Amino acid sequence: MAAFATIRSMDEEAGTPPDIAPRTGGSPTPDGAAAETATAVARATAAVALGGLAKEIAACRACPRLVAWREAAAANPPARFRGERYWALPVPGWGDAAARIVLVGLAPAAHGGNRTGRVFTGDRSGDFLFAALHRAGLASQPTSTRPGDGLELWGAYVAAAVRCAPPANAPTPEERDRCAPFLHRELALLVDARVIVALGAFGWVAALRAVEATSGRLARPLPRFGHAAEAAAGPFTLLGTFHPSQQNTFTGRLTAEMLDAVLARAVEVASAREPSGRPGGLAVPASALPTSQARHARRQSRTLFG
Ligand code: SF4
Repeated sequence: MAAFATIRSMDEEAGTPPDIAPRTGGSPTPDGAAAETATAVARATAAVALGGLAKEIAACRACPRLVAWREAAAANPPARFRGERYWALPVPGWGDAAARIVLVGLAPAAHGGNRTGRVFTGDRSGDFLFAALHRAGLASQPTSTRPGDGLELWGAYVAAAVRCAPPANAPTPEERDRCAPFLHRELALLVDARVIVALGAFGWVAALRAVEATSGRLARPLPRFGHAAEAAAGPFTLLGTFHPSQQNTFTGRLTAEMLDAVLARAVEVASAREPSGRPGGLAVPASALPTSQARHARRQSRTLFG
């Protein structure tokens, strides 16, 4: 088979999961020092566990149909990606290990996440989503092109219900169920998560199943998906948005303003104070950012905590 793009070898790349950024919280008060230390330890432990899980996910070959599809996509890329190196492995979630907001989509795109190794990046859907995340103060830049492009997530984590690119974006029920435990385990490790944003109906159902699997708390009847739908789901607030697919964004079914409103609500909920009085966890270490980003982060921080 002619290979126009390179598929990363398992040995070489399964040990290189996508970025999962450990992060500590704000400065502890004297009274809260012990709690802050425990929180920092829990976050660091979770970041290590997420890294280990990412390696496990990247090594999975449990669905023969999807393994063949993801590798065939890498071997036959469109002209614009010819010569690029494809990830061509299952795509773990990625982002801030201390995320309060978890975004759950369907699956990586054949020439998006399957190419970059970061779900929802490297295609038009990613352009739309990360521009919105940047406007919301959750991403370091509005674009997502390839690994090493500088993109970081702040207070957010992006994951998918199914980790391998499926033909026609349609995993079978068996493939969906086989892959589901990866999302359940990620959600359990994201100890700061408070809000789940479901990108589309598939992500909505996957998120509900993950909540039930991890917390065992889910009232019936299950809440119905809709754009801007909001529901309590166990310890989380679940928000829905139409999927940022080209089919939706090109037709105006999902506009930038509509997605901005959902993300603003996610930030609002995630920034609420804990019962203990601990402030929300979306503060960005502005001193570590380039000047323009630091200004943006400071503005966002004032909005969140002012
Ligand atoms: S879809 Fe999930 S379970 Fe199936 S091969 Fe990919 S990572 Fe493994």
